[in-house]
Amino acid sequence: MNTERRAGGSGGSSPQTDTAALVTRGVRRTFEADNAPVRALRGVDLTVRRGEFVALMGPSGCGKSTLLNLVAGLDVPDEGTIMVADEQVTGRSEDDLARMRRRHIGIVFQFFNLLEGMTVLENVALPALIAGRKRRMAETRARDLLDLLGIGDKGSSLPGVLSGGQRQRLAIARALANDPTLLLADEPTGALDSEGGAEVIELLRRLHAGGQTVILVTHDADVAAAAQRLVRMRDGRIVTQDDVSAEPDPAVKVEVR
Ligand code: ADP
Ligand code: MG
Repeated sequence: MNTERRAGGSGGSSPQTDTAALVTRGVRRTFEADNAPVRALRGVDLTVRRGEFVALMGPSGCGKSTLLNLVAGLDVPDEGTIMVADEQVTGRSEDDLARMRRRHIGIVFQFFNLLEGMTVLENVALPALIAGRKRRMAETRARDLLDLLGIGDKGSSLPGVLSGGQRQRLAIARALANDPTLLLADEPTGALDSEGGAEVIELLRRLHAGGQTVILVTHDADVAAAAQRLVRMRDGRIVTQDDVSAEPDPAVKVEVR
Protein backbone atom coordinates (compact mmCIF):
# COMPACT_ATOMS: atom_id res chain seq x y z
CA MET A 1 0.00 0.00 0.00
CA ASN A 2 2.79 2.44 0.79
CA THR A 3 5.28 0.97 -1.64
CA GLU A 4 4.89 3.66 -4.27
CA ARG A 5 5.38 6.38 -1.74
CA ARG A 6 8.35 4.55 -0.30
CA ALA A 7 9.96 4.12 -3.68
CA GLY A 8 9.98 7.89 -3.93
CA GLY A 9 9.94 8.05 -7.73
CA SER A 10 7.80 10.66 -9.39
CA GLY A 11 6.43 8.82 -12.44
CA GLY A 12 3.15 7.18 -11.59
CA SER A 13 3.41 7.63 -7.85
CA SER A 14 1.14 9.86 -5.83
CA PRO A 15 1.69 13.60 -6.14
CA GLN A 16 2.49 13.56 -2.41
CA THR A 17 5.93 12.17 -3.18
CA ASP A 18 6.99 15.13 -5.23
CA THR A 19 8.12 17.44 -2.49
CA ALA A 20 9.68 16.89 0.89
CA ALA A 21 7.51 17.59 3.90
CA LEU A 22 10.54 18.90 5.80
CA VAL A 23 14.08 19.93 4.96
CA THR A 24 16.47 21.35 7.55
CA ARG A 25 19.99 22.41 6.65
CA GLY A 26 22.73 23.47 9.02
CA VAL A 27 20.33 24.28 11.83
CA ARG A 28 22.00 25.61 14.95
CA ARG A 29 20.51 26.87 18.18
CA THR A 30 22.42 28.05 21.23
CA PHE A 31 20.72 29.07 24.47
CA GLU A 32 22.27 31.59 26.78
CA ALA A 33 22.43 29.95 30.20
CA ASP A 34 23.80 31.45 33.43
CA ASN A 35 27.32 30.07 33.30
CA ALA A 36 27.96 28.97 29.74
CA PRO A 37 26.01 28.91 26.49
CA VAL A 38 24.19 25.64 25.77
CA ARG A 39 24.69 24.52 22.19
CA ALA A 40 21.42 22.63 21.86
CA LEU A 41 21.66 22.08 18.07
CA ARG A 42 25.02 22.03 16.31
CA GLY A 43 24.13 21.71 12.64
CA VAL A 44 21.12 19.53 11.90
CA ASP A 45 20.42 18.32 8.35
CA LEU A 46 17.20 16.33 8.15
CA THR A 47 14.88 15.53 5.25
CA VAL A 48 11.49 13.95 5.78
CA ARG A 49 9.51 12.87 2.73
CA ARG A 50 5.78 13.30 2.50
CA GLY A 51 3.98 10.39 4.07
CA GLU A 52 6.97 9.26 6.13
CA PHE A 53 6.75 8.25 9.77
CA VAL A 54 10.03 9.15 11.46
CA ALA A 55 10.98 8.43 15.06
CA LEU A 56 13.50 10.78 16.64
CA MET A 57 15.42 9.31 19.57
CA GLY A 58 18.37 10.27 21.72
CA PRO A 59 19.38 10.94 25.32
CA SER A 60 17.64 13.58 27.35
CA GLY A 61 19.05 17.02 26.53
CA CYS A 62 20.36 16.07 23.07
CA GLY A 63 18.13 18.66 21.36
CA LYS A 64 15.03 16.74 20.24
CA SER A 65 12.47 19.19 21.59
CA THR A 66 14.53 22.15 20.44
CA LEU A 67 14.48 20.75 16.91
CA LEU A 68 10.73 20.12 16.97
CA ASN A 69 10.05 23.62 18.28
CA LEU A 70 12.14 25.14 15.49
CA VAL A 71 10.37 23.06 12.85
CA ALA A 72 7.05 24.17 14.33
CA GLY A 73 8.14 27.81 14.16
CA LEU A 74 7.79 28.19 17.92
CA ASP A 75 11.45 29.17 18.17
CA VAL A 76 13.97 30.56 15.70
CA PRO A 77 17.36 29.03 14.77
CA ASP A 78 20.56 31.04 15.07
CA GLU A 79 21.78 29.61 11.78
CA GLY A 80 20.49 27.36 9.04
CA THR A 81 17.29 26.95 7.06
CA ILE A 82 14.07 25.08 7.62
CA MET A 83 11.57 24.38 4.85
CA VAL A 84 8.16 22.82 5.43
CA ALA A 85 6.30 21.80 2.28
CA ASP A 86 8.71 23.92 0.23
CA GLU A 87 8.01 27.03 2.28
CA GLN A 88 10.68 28.70 4.36
CA VAL A 89 10.00 28.66 8.08
CA THR A 90 13.09 30.71 8.77
CA GLY A 91 13.20 34.44 8.12
CA ARG A 92 9.50 35.21 8.43
CA SER A 93 7.62 37.81 10.40
CA GLU A 94 5.71 36.69 13.49
CA ASP A 95 2.34 36.99 11.75
CA ASP A 96 3.54 35.18 8.69
CA LEU A 97 5.00 32.44 10.84
CA ALA A 98 1.75 32.03 12.74
CA ARG A 99 -0.13 31.65 9.46
CA MET A 100 2.36 29.11 8.21
CA ARG A 101 2.15 27.20 11.49
CA ARG A 102 -1.62 27.02 11.30
CA ARG A 103 -1.49 25.71 7.78
CA HIS A 104 1.33 23.19 8.00
CA ILE A 105 1.98 22.17 11.59
CA GLY A 106 0.11 20.07 14.11
CA ILE A 107 1.96 19.49 17.37
CA VAL A 108 1.28 17.36 20.43
CA PHE A 109 3.25 17.31 23.65
CA GLN A 110 3.79 14.94 26.55
CA PHE A 111 1.28 16.87 28.65
CA PHE A 112 -1.74 17.38 26.55
CA ASN A 113 -2.30 21.14 26.91
CA LEU A 114 -6.07 20.72 26.62
CA LEU A 115 -8.48 23.50 27.44
CA GLU A 116 -10.24 21.94 30.41
CA GLY A 117 -13.14 24.41 30.46
CA MET A 118 -14.15 23.63 26.88
CA THR A 119 -15.86 20.50 25.62
CA VAL A 120 -13.95 17.87 23.71
CA LEU A 121 -15.57 19.04 20.47
CA GLU A 122 -14.71 22.69 21.15
CA ASN A 123 -11.08 21.76 21.85
CA VAL A 124 -10.80 20.15 18.43
CA ALA A 125 -12.76 22.84 16.57
CA LEU A 126 -10.76 25.74 18.04
CA PRO A 127 -7.70 25.66 15.74
CA ALA A 128 -9.93 25.74 12.65
CA LEU A 129 -11.91 28.65 14.10
CA ILE A 130 -8.68 30.51 14.79
CA ALA A 131 -7.65 29.81 11.20
CA GLY A 132 -10.80 31.60 10.09
CA ARG A 133 -13.13 28.71 9.24
CA LYS A 134 -16.85 29.01 9.74
CA ARG A 135 -18.07 27.46 12.99
CA ARG A 136 -20.24 24.88 11.24
CA MET A 137 -17.35 23.69 9.07
CA ALA A 138 -14.94 23.63 11.99
CA GLU A 139 -17.35 21.58 14.08
CA THR A 140 -18.13 19.16 11.26
CA ARG A 141 -14.42 18.53 10.76
CA ALA A 142 -13.96 18.20 14.53
CA ARG A 143 -16.74 15.60 14.70
CA ASP A 144 -15.19 13.62 11.84
CA LEU A 145 -11.81 13.68 13.55
CA LEU A 146 -13.23 12.52 16.87
CA ASP A 147 -14.99 9.65 15.08
CA LEU A 148 -11.83 8.73 13.25
CA LEU A 149 -9.85 8.79 16.48
CA GLY A 150 -12.36 6.64 18.33
CA ILE A 151 -13.75 9.23 20.74
CA GLY A 152 -16.76 10.35 18.72
CA ASP A 153 -19.11 9.73 21.64
CA LYS A 154 -17.20 12.17 23.88
CA GLY A 155 -17.76 15.40 21.96
CA SER A 156 -19.96 17.12 24.51
CA SER A 157 -17.95 15.95 27.55
CA LEU A 158 -15.22 17.95 29.23
CA PRO A 159 -11.71 16.58 28.70
CA GLY A 160 -11.52 15.74 32.42
CA VAL A 161 -13.67 12.62 31.96
CA LEU A 162 -11.26 11.07 29.46
CA SER A 163 -8.59 8.47 30.19
CA GLY A 164 -4.94 9.39 29.58
CA GLY A 165 -4.88 7.65 26.22
CA GLN A 166 -8.13 9.35 25.22
CA ARG A 167 -6.77 12.74 26.29
CA GLN A 168 -3.75 12.31 24.09
CA ARG A 169 -5.97 11.14 21.21
CA LEU A 170 -7.96 14.33 21.73
CA ALA A 171 -4.75 16.37 21.59
CA ILE A 172 -3.89 14.59 18.34
CA ALA A 173 -7.36 15.28 16.93
CA ARG A 174 -6.85 18.96 17.72
CA ALA A 175 -3.42 18.90 16.07
CA LEU A 176 -5.06 17.52 12.91
CA ALA A 177 -7.81 20.15 12.80
CA ASN A 178 -6.23 22.09 9.94
CA ASP A 179 -5.00 19.03 8.06
CA PRO A 180 -1.32 19.82 8.67
CA THR A 181 1.56 18.83 6.41
CA LEU A 182 3.47 17.66 9.47
CA LEU A 183 2.24 16.06 12.66
CA LEU A 184 4.91 16.58 15.32
CA ALA A 185 4.64 14.56 18.53
CA ASP A 186 7.06 15.25 21.40
CA GLU A 187 7.03 12.23 23.70
CA PRO A 188 3.27 11.80 23.35
CA THR A 189 3.31 8.57 25.37
CA GLY A 190 5.67 9.88 28.05
CA ALA A 191 2.94 10.57 30.60
CA LEU A 192 0.76 7.55 29.78
CA ASP A 193 0.50 4.04 31.18
CA SER A 194 1.27 1.23 28.74
CA GLU A 195 -2.35 0.82 27.66
CA GLY A 196 -2.75 4.54 26.95
CA GLY A 197 0.60 4.58 25.19
CA ALA A 198 -0.43 1.67 22.98
CA GLU A 199 -3.65 3.49 22.00
CA VAL A 200 -1.69 6.54 20.94
CA ILE A 201 0.87 4.58 18.96
CA GLU A 202 -1.84 2.59 17.20
CA LEU A 203 -3.46 5.88 16.27
CA LEU A 204 -0.22 7.33 14.88
CA ARG A 205 0.26 4.18 12.81
CA ARG A 206 -3.24 4.47 11.40
CA LEU A 207 -2.71 8.13 10.56
CA HIS A 208 0.54 7.27 8.82
CA ALA A 209 -1.18 4.47 6.90
CA GLY A 210 -3.67 7.12 5.76
CA GLY A 211 -0.83 9.27 4.38
CA GLN A 212 -0.09 11.59 7.31
CA THR A 213 3.56 12.62 7.71
CA VAL A 214 4.57 12.08 11.34
CA ILE A 215 7.68 12.97 13.36
CA LEU A 216 7.62 11.27 16.73
CA VAL A 217 10.07 12.02 19.55
CA THR A 218 10.36 9.21 22.04
CA HIS A 219 12.65 7.63 24.61
CA ASP A 220 11.02 4.28 24.16
CA ALA A 221 12.40 1.85 21.55
CA ASP A 222 9.07 -0.03 21.46
CA VAL A 223 7.28 3.18 20.60
CA ALA A 224 9.90 4.09 18.00
CA ALA A 225 9.36 0.69 16.37
CA ALA A 226 6.01 1.95 15.07
CA ALA A 227 7.91 4.29 12.75
CA GLN A 228 9.37 3.67 9.34
CA ARG A 229 12.69 5.36 9.95
CA LEU A 230 14.71 5.94 13.08
CA VAL A 231 16.74 9.13 13.43
CA ARG A 232 19.13 9.22 16.37
CA MET A 233 20.50 12.40 17.86
CA ARG A 234 23.33 13.02 20.27
CA ASP A 235 24.78 16.29 21.55
CA GLY A 236 22.80 18.45 19.16
CA ARG A 237 23.54 16.42 16.05
CA ILE A 238 21.95 13.63 14.06
CA VAL A 239 24.15 10.57 14.35
CA THR A 240 22.25 7.90 12.41
CA GLN A 241 19.21 7.64 10.17
CA ASP A 242 18.09 4.06 9.57
CA ASP A 243 15.14 2.54 7.84
CA VAL A 244 13.41 0.56 10.56
CA SER A 245 11.24 -1.41 8.18
CA ALA A 246 11.93 -1.83 4.50
CA GLU A 247 8.41 -3.07 3.83
CA PRO A 248 5.04 -1.80 4.99
CA ASP A 249 4.16 -3.43 8.27
CA PRO A 250 1.40 -6.01 7.70
CA ALA A 251 0.27 -5.47 11.30
CA VAL A 252 -0.94 -1.97 10.45
CA LYS A 253 -4.69 -2.12 10.09
CA VAL A 254 -6.84 0.86 9.42
CA GLU A 255 -9.82 0.19 11.55
CA VAL A 256 -12.13 2.75 13.03
CA ARG A 257 -13.30 1.82 16.46
P1 ADP B 1 15.62 16.91 24.61
O1 ADP B 1 14.25 17.25 24.14
O2 ADP B 1 16.40 16.08 23.65
O3 ADP B 1 15.62 16.28 25.97
P2 ADP B 1 16.03 19.78 24.59
O4 ADP B 1 15.93 20.12 23.16
O5 ADP B 1 14.86 20.08 25.45
O6 ADP B 1 16.47 18.26 24.76
O7 ADP B 1 17.26 20.55 25.21
C1 ADP B 1 18.55 20.56 24.63
C2 ADP B 1 19.49 21.36 25.52
O8 ADP B 1 19.11 22.73 25.44
C3 ADP B 1 19.42 20.98 26.97
O9 ADP B 1 20.71 21.11 27.52
C4 ADP B 1 18.49 21.98 27.57
O10 ADP B 1 18.75 22.19 28.91
C5 ADP B 1 18.78 23.21 26.73
N1 ADP B 1 17.62 24.10 26.59
C6 ADP B 1 16.47 23.82 25.94
N2 ADP B 1 15.63 24.86 25.95
C7 ADP B 1 16.28 25.87 26.62
C8 ADP B 1 15.95 27.21 26.96
N3 ADP B 1 14.80 27.76 26.60
N4 ADP B 1 16.88 27.92 27.66
C9 ADP B 1 18.05 27.38 28.00
N5 ADP B 1 18.43 26.12 27.71
C10 ADP B 1 17.56 25.36 27.03
MG1 MG C 1 12.38 16.96 25.03
